[in-house]
Amino acid sequence: MSKQTPQPTASPWARTADSAVHGYGLYAAKDIPKGTRVIEYVGEKISKAEADRRDQDRRDGREEGGDGCVYIFELNERYDVDGDVSWNTARLINHSCEPNCKPEYAEGGIWISAKRNIAEGEELNYDYGFDWENYDEHPCRCGAPNCCGYIVDKSQRWRIRQAEAKAAGKKAKGKKLPPAHPLTKLKWGDLLQLRARMIADPKRSLAIAESLTSGQLQSRIGLISGASSFFRGGLTAYTIDAKVDLLDVDRATAESCNAVSETVAKQMARGVARKFGATMGLATTGYAEPDEAHDVEVPFAYWAIAIKGPRGRWTETVGKVQGKGLSRVKMQVKVANEVIAQLVDLLQTSGS
Ligand SMILES: [Zn+2]
Repeated sequence: MSKQTPQPTASPWARTADSAVHGYGLYAAKDIPKGTRVIEYVGEKISKAEADRRDQDRRDGREEGGDGCVYIFELNERYDVDGDVSWNTARLINHSCEPNCKPEYAEGGIWISAKRNIAEGEELNYDYGFDWENYDEHPCRCGAPNCCGYIVDKSQRWRIRQAEAKAAGKKAKGKKLPPAHPLTKLKWGDLLQLRARMIADPKRSLAIAESLTSGQLQSRIGLISGASSFFRGGLTAYTIDAKVDLLDVDRATAESCNAVSETVAKQMARGVARKFGATMGLATTGYAEPDEAHDVEVPFAYWAIAIKGPRGRWTETVGKVQGKGLSRVKMQVKVANEVIAQLVDLLQTSGS
């Protein structure tokens, strides 16, 4: 066997850089489609007994102030892989409670694969899947909305919440849960992709005009860490007067359709972008629930995205969302999520 240290593994999909979360991290070097095997997780193939011994060593080391990170992966029933070696570039990937990658067994090894579409520039991460025992040894700063504050496998996080609740003197058992907030249906992955695409071009900026979504689009964008670098602001305009006065929507057009049409959505998007001096405007208008006065049986809405081109010309993309059988809240969530997904898509294809 050669005693030479192997070259660090490399992948065309990933590059190394300082992480916002912890030490170094791995970042998407280009857009990565869902399902892509991004990088192999390599290391020393060791027996189960050896893995246990090393695990114990690390725990002892931690008590003496060592790093104590865990890099051992199960390979099969007989062997594990210890990834704590210099040539395993995948060991730099950080944990997230809402990860964009996942470990996968393929080609006789362990791969870190894309769990969803990932935008160029996004930090790569996966769920380390640590056991909840000694959870307080591994605090988590991933920033995901579902983060429990510690690096613990998803299936065990409820134990942490229970333990924390107990520590705070609250009764975790038998407590009635409040109804889910609409934002719990958040498409966090879309927001992270959007963030990467916005930050990739510092000239990009965003403003939002909302009607039926009533601030939900703005609150989603506001959840993104660093949003203030590209989000200029927005407003909610329910009435025709508000749309005309604040967003320069044409009054005759608005009055002919109760301000619900593709044209009105476009005018709102462009109007709000101008108002806030942004290069992009997002707008929604429609019915969040059936409306007898306007003969609306099935809730529907229009969204529009206006983007200012290099010569100051605006191009608009519009779409319609139907909400058959949806409650008011669910319709609002559907529209807000749809607009953000469309914006992510548009920034991917236009490249501007
Ligand atoms: Zn977390």
